[in-house]
This record gives sequence, C-alpha cells and structure tokens, in this order.
Amino acid sequence: MRALTLIADRKLELADLASPAAPAAGEVQVAVKAVALNHLDLWGYRGMAFAKRKMPVVVGVEAAGEIAVVGPGTSGLRPGDAVVMYGALTCGTCKACREGRDNLCENVAGIMGFHVDGFARDLVNIPARLVIPVPAGVTLRDAACAPIAFATVQHMLFDNARLEPGESVLVHAGGSGIGTVAIKMAKAIGCTVITTVGDDAKAEKAKALGADHVINYRTDRFEGAVRKLTGKKGVDVVFEHVGAETFNGSLLCLKRGGRLVTCGATSGPSTTINLMQLFQQQYRIIGSFGASMRNIRESLAKMAGGLLPVIDIEVPLADFERGLERLESRQVFGKIIVTF
Ligand SMILES: [Zn+2]
Repeated sequence: MRALTLIADRKLELADLASPAAPAAGEVQVAVKAVALNHLDLWGYRGMAFAKRKMPVVVGVEAAGEIAVVGPGTSGLRPGDAVVMYGALTCGTCKACREGRDNLCENVAGIMGFHVDGFARDLVNIPARLVIPVPAGVTLRDAACAPIAFATVQHMLFDNARLEPGESVLVHAGGSGIGTVAIKMAKAIGCTVITTVGDDAKAEKAKALGADHVINYRTDRFEGAVRKLTGKKGVDVVFEHVGAETFNGSLLCLKRGGRLVTCGATSGPSTTINLMQLFQQQYRIIGSFGASMRNIRESLAKMAGGLLPVIDIEVPLADFERGLERLESRQVFGKIIVTF
C-alpha cells in the first residue's frame, strides 16, 4: 500500500509499505479516503526539537475513510461505513478518558501523524473505540475536517470560552482552516464576528462567510480597529492561534471579564503579558489543545445540518508537500484536502 512518510526534517517520501495484518480484537481496518492538512502537519514537517518521535513516520493527522475490515469482538461498525478517526492514541481507561475528556488522557501514547504513524496511507488499523461514524449526507472530504479543524474550534468556543448567542468574538486569521470554521460556528449561533486577514481578497471571502467586520492586519492595527468597532468596550471572546505577533493586542481587544482562548502560536511561542492588566481587567486566558470524541460527534452533526468546511484546494497524495508549502506561505483560505 501507499504511505507518505517523513524520513527527515522537511523530507517526505511516498513509500510502498506492506498492508497491515487483519485487525486484532477490538480493532477495525479503515481505507483512508481523505486527509485534511493542519498546522500540526507543518510543525511535524519542519521538525520540533522537543518532539519525541521515531522516523520514518507516516504523516497525516486528520482523516476520513471507510471501514474495510472489522476485527473480532467489534460491534456497531460494518465494512463500507464512513468514519473519521480520533487522532491521539488515548488509553481509554484513565479518569480523563472515562469522563470523556479524551484530550486530557493521562497515558496518551502519541498523536498519530506526529509522534506515531498517521493517516496518509491507504489502510490503517485502529481501535474501534477511536472511530466515529459519519452521518448520512456528509461527504468524506468534508468529514475529514471534523477530528481536528472542526472539533478543535468546537472545544475552544463552546467548552472553553463558553461563547453565547449574541456575544462578540474576534477571530484571528479568518482565512485559516480553523479561522474559517470559527467564523461559521460563531455566526451560526448569532454572534457578532470580527476577523483579521492578511489581504483584501481574503477580506471579501471572510465577509462572504458571514463575518460582520473584517480587518486587514497588514494595513490596519487590529487592536485599534476592534476598539473602534466596539465603541471602546472590546469583545467578549478572542479566538487566538497566532501567538507572539498578536497576543498582547488580543488582550487589549477584550472587554472587562472577557475570555481569550488559544490553541496555537504560529507566529512564535513566547510573549510577555502585563499582570496588572490581567487581574484588573479580570481576563480569563484559556489554553486549548485538541478536542474530545464528543466534540467530533458535535462537529459531524453540525456538518449534517449544513455547516460545512471551506475547502481551499484538493490535491492528490503525491502533492501533500505542495499543500504544506501553501499552508506555510499563508496563501490558504480554508482547508487543504489530500485525496486518495
Ligand atoms: Zn486515558
């Protein structure tokens, strides 16, 4: 079978690997049909000094496919079923897992496609408990965006920031994979959405997604623009994932008692913050990473209800690297899908 492997930093190889054995008890074998690209792929591709991983490693952190073979002792799944897969090898038995807080598993064995072999291959064996059925009417291309892009945003906005209908939210990088999802999810519950983009063409596209106000951060200071748009009050929630370049500006955009939720630091991981401002303004800063299985089910339900991902481009497996380069250069608007 085909498998796209990372053999060294910034070096991918399309390998011909032996197909996996028949799935063991409690496992299923999934034929992968679509992989969605994420910044996590880029971190893995560039190499991270602190990441413990073996190479070569099969890349691909987020995917959808069809059940090919069902292992012994597995009920509720049949060959041909459309599914997505939870991308971290959780233990399934610790307190966090038992309580459905999968992304806080105490014994996680790694993130697939990053620490351990991922989804950019024709066939993968995976524990059936990590497989989530795709509702009828949702394509595999769209479903491939559920496990990370959709579920991460669902977890950030609703579990962590507790975004309520009628509130205001600043979504950074409204053209990014998760930015496009955040705009759509916030608008779907009746929030006022302000977003930032890096060029005017993206501004038009963000408006078309429903953003109420779009700021070009290259020509306008977003913190000033947000304060002006909100009558100097600030927003209820900031959706952060840019990091060093924007973090302090993001805090300045918050209302007193506002919430900042962050899941990324694409522009750099370190910053300083003013602690006086933090406690006097009673900000809440919430770190968020990954999502629970429940968040993936909620995401798929939203897709079934018509809240679909924005697809930037689709590329074949052999062009995975071209997709990563597009992501890295910030040319992207929405999600890049690798098809099989
Ligand atoms: Zn666990």
